[in-house]
Amino acid sequence: MPDREPDRPAGVPEHAEHLTAAAEAGTAVEGWRWMSDSWAAAAEAPEGWHAVRVPADVVDAPMPFVVTDVDSTLIQDEVVELLAAHAGREAEVAEVTERAMRGELDFAQSLHARVEALGGLPVAVIEEVVARVRPTPGARDLIAAVTGAGGRIYAVSGGFTQVLAPLAAAWGLSGFCANELEIADGHLTGRVAGSVVDRAVKEQMLRQWAAEAEMPLLGTLGCGDGANDIDLLTASGCGVALCGKPALREVADACVDVPHLAVVRWMLGL
Ligand SMILES: [Mg+2]
Repeated sequence: MPDREPDRPAGVPEHAEHLTAAAEAGTAVEGWRWMSDSWAAAAEAPEGWHAVRVPADVVDAPMPFVVTDVDSTLIQDEVVELLAAHAGREAEVAEVTERAMRGELDFAQSLHARVEALGGLPVAVIEEVVARVRPTPGARDLIAAVTGAGGRIYAVSGGFTQVLAPLAAAWGLSGFCANELEIADGHLTGRVAGSVVDRAVKEQMLRQWAAEAEMPLLGTLGCGDGANDIDLLTASGCGVALCGKPALREVADACVDVPHLAVVRWMLGL
């Protein structure tokens, strides 16, 4: 069914392409996309519209290449909070998460504090939480579009391998990296096994995955929402803050303020 093309907002040129994405979880989004050497015109977005600029190196990249945060970016949830709900400690954990995302707490310290609250939970809760995770609108379309175009899309998360691994397999992610919950005798110990995936590791993974794919860093797109994603966004060719916290917005190349990943797909020309 062809799109019904609405009136162009002032400043949108004749050759601009009209884009729409299906409403998911009550969120619909539409946009216009065009190529221009001039950022100035697009920066003055008309009332009710937001302008996002994609650097030429990303437009001309050999393949679409994305590294994304998970909690509150690829999915709508904060997984540690879903797990905490099973322990009856969600309010306490949510408070620590909020402060960490605002950059008020060192991420590793706050992670250890939150995971400690999960100590004693049976491992069966992990499966229940995986079933409750809600993808961000447009997330699965974005993954399918990137991989369908021969590109790669990876997830790097301050959350947990045990939850992310089944999602990555079901959704077709190119790879992932997250923290590992320590498990003993069928229960969470309340500790993280091994080293913590913090903001520095997020950047390292971007660099490692890009190198493996022989992908120039300037052609990559990094996406996240919190202070923990600052290094990932600044190291990528185009850093996108999705409904980002203030500390991340300051360093982002583009702020997408609607919780729908169709906008990121459009930014990649997909
Ligand atoms: Mg996040």
